[in-house]
Amino acid sequence: MKKRSEIIFPLDEGANLKNYEETRESFDWKEIEKHFTWSSTGKVNIVYEAIDRRVDEGAGDQIALYFTDGNRDESYTYNQLKELSCRFANGLKKLGIKKGDRVFLFMPRSPELIIAMLGIVRIGAIVGPLFEAFMEEAVKDRLLDSGAVAVVTTDQLRKRIHDSELPQLKHIIVLGEISDSSKEVSYNSLLNQSDAYTIEWVDKEDGMVLFYTSGSTGKPKGILHVHYAMVQMYVSGKYVYDLRKGDVYWCTADPGWVTGTSAGIFAPWLNGVTSVCRGGRFKPEDWYATLEKYKVSVWFSAPTAFRMLMAQGNDLPKKYDLSSLRHILSAGEPLNPEVFYWGLDVLGQPIHDNWWMTETGSTICANYRNMPIRPGSMGKPLPGVEMAIVDDEGNVLPPKRMGNLAIKPGWPSMMRKVWGNEEKYQSYFLNGWFISGDSAYQDEDGYFWFEGRVDDVINTSGERVGPFEVESKLVEHPAVAEAGVIGVPDPVRGQIIKAFITLRAGYEPSEELAKEISQFVRQRLAAHAAPRQIEFKEKLPKTRSGKIMRRVLKAWELGLPTGDLSTLED
Ligand code: ATP
Ligand code: MG
Repeated sequence: MKKRSEIIFPLDEGANLKNYEETRESFDWKEIEKHFTWSSTGKVNIVYEAIDRRVDEGAGDQIALYFTDGNRDESYTYNQLKELSCRFANGLKKLGIKKGDRVFLFMPRSPELIIAMLGIVRIGAIVGPLFEAFMEEAVKDRLLDSGAVAVVTTDQLRKRIHDSELPQLKHIIVLGEISDSSKEVSYNSLLNQSDAYTIEWVDKEDGMVLFYTSGSTGKPKGILHVHYAMVQMYVSGKYVYDLRKGDVYWCTADPGWVTGTSAGIFAPWLNGVTSVCRGGRFKPEDWYATLEKYKVSVWFSAPTAFRMLMAQGNDLPKKYDLSSLRHILSAGEPLNPEVFYWGLDVLGQPIHDNWWMTETGSTICANYRNMPIRPGSMGKPLPGVEMAIVDDEGNVLPPKRMGNLAIKPGWPSMMRKVWGNEEKYQSYFLNGWFISGDSAYQDEDGYFWFEGRVDDVINTSGERVGPFEVESKLVEHPAVAEAGVIGVPDPVRGQIIKAFITLRAGYEPSEELAKEISQFVRQRLAAHAAPRQIEFKEKLPKTRSGKIMRRVLKAWELGLPTGDLSTLED
């Protein structure tokens, strides 16, 4: 495969973003606000803009949601989502739940989850989506920390909620069999409420969603976003995900993470397109089949998923008709160039990497449809967002210098609170910048390049090495499926590089292979960047949102406590 440093695609005249630089120059959030009805009516609620508005504008019969999980196969129009979420909202109101209350979701990906989410936000309450795989402690921590008054769950998952330890939790809304606990109420009884139209008009700055972060670097934080975040969710949907009329869009992220809700639920509906939700576990055959069946045109997933598909080989995708795909996106972790080229060759489309955090609420930096791509780079900031690399005092650094990836506060979907921890919230800001905790640099043409988490950057023999670059080189080796790289203290070199590696099917761990892989990095990247130690693993520790947990690798290596593991995969 020939590697090129920049890839220029033919101009796509139909794209929402025709010219990045021009759009950036004239961009004004105030102009974008005019897109929303509240800019003239003063009545704000993200659910109105995402769902009810489509109905009011005569598009209520359009399919808003396709759902499949292998057993169920359903579709919902905007009309139906409006009606069902009004019913649910009326049910919540009957229970006495009101604006500002925290109501959590702890259930598998399903239309019921989405209807509940819309119902909760509809009445002005704050929704807290939890990933279904959380165990007892993780659920308890989050419900306690947020002071949730209600949780929506299933009869299966309900067993993991020990309400005797949660004095503030008044209601457990259960899909399925309910027990005789006085706190339980059946999900369906809420849906049987009147379908009378309900919506609570809120302030733009009122709380809408509370996410707990992935826990890659430590204990997860509760991040609050407000209704006004819709402005940026809409723009990300339009310019980054390039959602156009008639699109069928599939975001594979779980709503328990910011991507699954911001890019998975709100961005598509704020842009009036049809969205696909797939339940059940990851299985390459099912995923390709889903793309084919719904003729998905815009597909948003994550590097971990692309790498798993890649590891399955290239014959499988050939069995499916993927010709409907027009635009592919990736976020959550850096996208290795190898994976980018795989996308181009096998899926027939470039994968557009975009960078954000739970705290940023929506996309901040991206590769756009009509912008040349530099594989391995996360592209350029969203029009309307200012990004820079700053030193540890918050001074802007010139191009090519590594430093803290920082954002100028004031982007619409910026977090408004770390729940119950003002000190933590304040700690993100330095000298007028929001400090992401990631390390990166900008090239002379304004492209940003991710290096690693600030804490993961390795110093070896006086050289600074980002784990991402080494990992990307490692996965270019035909034997390597995934790699996690850390620095291990060394009396001579300060740190040496150690790589944890999982192998592709057909390869066996051996001393020889380890040497060969190390040599591969030495020759293709740099001698100082080659791992001096390689350990083969069956699996790498990952968060449930699919990120490699380097802090766990470090803890294993150094025999240190692993810290909060609530988000670690099984
Ligand atoms: P925690 O904050 O609890 O330690 P986390 O940072 O993994 O966990 P998220 O908010 O889900 O929680 O993830 C944001 C982080 O994910 C970013 O800070 C960055 O390190 C990484 N990330 C997201 N998208 C990209 C991308 N496109 N390229 C590189 N890194 C990315
Ligand atoms: Mg983080």
